[in-house]
Amino acid sequence: MTTIASNLQAVRAAIIDAATGAGRRADEVSLLAVSKTFAQDAVRDAYQAGQTRFAESYVQEALGKISALHDLPIEWHYIGPIQSNKTRAIAENFAWVHSVDRINIAERLSAQRPAHLPPIQVCIQVNISGEGSKSGVSPDQLSILAQAIAKLPGLKLRGLMAIPAPVDNVAAQHLPFAQLRELFNQLNQQGLKLDTLSMGMSHDFAAAIAEGATIVRIGSAIFGQREYP
Ligand SMILES: *Cc1c(COP(=O)(O)O)cnc(C)c1O
Repeated sequence: MTTIASNLQAVRAAIIDAATGAGRRADEVSLLAVSKTFAQDAVRDAYQAGQTRFAESYVQEALGKISALHDLPIEWHYIGPIQSNKTRAIAENFAWVHSVDRINIAERLSAQRPAHLPPIQVCIQVNISGEGSKSGVSPDQLSILAQAIAKLPGLKLRGLMAIPAPVDNVAAQHLPFAQLRELFNQLNQQGLKLDTLSMGMSHDFAAAIAEGATIVRIGSAIFGQREYP
């Protein structure tokens, strides 16, 4: 077994533990493998070990991998920052986008989605911790943005995503995830039909699952430490 295959097996077991420990069914939580900075061979290893959903954060890097891996029926998710000059490439190449945080980007993605493809499955990124990540809509602007995105024909609004500021204490990891779930509940009470909470990474996915995550985005626990140039 490759290292990636055994890491995947351990991550899957930990997801099942976290879900059942929280009184949830394990199949309510989907594993998204974050392959940014890792070569196409790493993605192939993970695919051979049964992983079909992968996420990337840098458009240029992702396009190379998507084209090199065209022989595999991978579902590609975009989770990185979105510049307006990259929306067309994103709209043409990804099934999901988790990092939409402003209306002009959403409108461009919708308009540029090729007609022969289904709508892009979208999560709105929320700046839940205030500091930490600078990306994301603030919680008080979320409802207006969500209602506007829900009307765009090229997008299907599925839910919310957040990257909380890292904290070392496990108990403190729960709070931002609970806050995101509360915002999600409020939007559904306002009539939206959201089913996705994209939250939890290698260091905090157990807390995210306990608070209702339906997609966890995990990179280093599967592929190893990233080295940035
Ligand atoms: C890199 C990244 C991840 C994965 O982080 P790990 O700590 O390696 O699991 C998840 N979500 C986003 C948005 C990322 O950029």
